[in-house]
Amino acid sequence: MRWDDFRRSDNVEDRRGEEGGGGGFSMPGGRGGLGIGTIVVLGLVGWALGIDPRLLIGGAEVLTGGGSSYQRPADQSGTRQTGTPKDKEGQFVSAVLGDMEDRWKEIFQRSNQTYRTPKLVMYSGVTEQACGGVAQAAMGPFYCPSDQRIYLDTSFFRDLQNRFRGCSGKACEFAQAYVIAHEVGHHVQNVLGILPKVQQMQQQFQRSGDKVEANHLQVRVELQADCLAGVWAHHSDDAKHMIEAGDVEAAMQTAAAIGDDRLQQQSQGRVVPDSFTHGSSQQRVRWFTTGLKSGTVSSCNTFAAAQL
Ligand SMILES: [Zn+2]
Repeated sequence: MRWDDFRRSDNVEDRRGEEGGGGGFSMPGGRGGLGIGTIVVLGLVGWALGIDPRLLIGGAEVLTGGGSSYQRPADQSGTRQTGTPKDKEGQFVSAVLGDMEDRWKEIFQRSNQTYRTPKLVMYSGVTEQACGGVAQAAMGPFYCPSDQRIYLDTSFFRDLQNRFRGCSGKACEFAQAYVIAHEVGHHVQNVLGILPKVQQMQQQFQRSGDKVEANHLQVRVELQADCLAGVWAHHSDDAKHMIEAGDVEAAMQTAAAIGDDRLQQQSQGRVVPDSFTHGSSQQRVRWFTTGLKSGTVSSCNTFAAAQL
């Protein structure tokens, strides 16, 4: 992937130096809350947790018998500096984010809509966030709709290569960009008003005890984010010819490696389709490819698709 000439975004909030996210916080839930093992398994099952960690973490809390709420004091992260980190990893992330800002701005403009850019938090270990609890490395990257931030633990990039074997060598960059593009896809869903609608429906399902239906909706949200990641790649390649040989294959391998079926097999040794929240490996590949080929948001209507 060629990204040298991408504009660097200054919406990157670099918290990598602050182990513990500003100090003074304790594990969510405290005693009787989530064990570290549970958190690791959750991280494996929903590598991105996609959207709102409360959905999965709330589920786990019922299992472990914890009952405390995760309400945290108001988000203090607004006071932090944003900018462009100087190191290579930070440069890469802000370049990729910068290009996504430019491409999505254009796409929105073409239909006379305004795109609001998200912030991206790079962190190591743990950091606070506004979606309930703290961001944990084991969660993988995720998007928090209420503070409109993408949380990226950079060790996940190393996991892509080592633990999940989703990519190797230079092609890993495009795979990493795909991961960021998926999270930006969730932000696009938020700006378009899709996320609030889906969350409302999910809450209704959860209230009536229909977890399976709530999960099915979540799969459509996740696959749409994959498709929107493909839409970005389509337009970025149009504008910058940034895709190099082997890149798309690496992203596909990554999508396959972090599909829920694969992750569940690794963590539990079996596959439980009704609890999928990200879609199967094959579905993730299919929807990323759909967006990549078409370059249109309208091709990403996973909610209307009879077959995912
Ligand atoms: Zn997601």
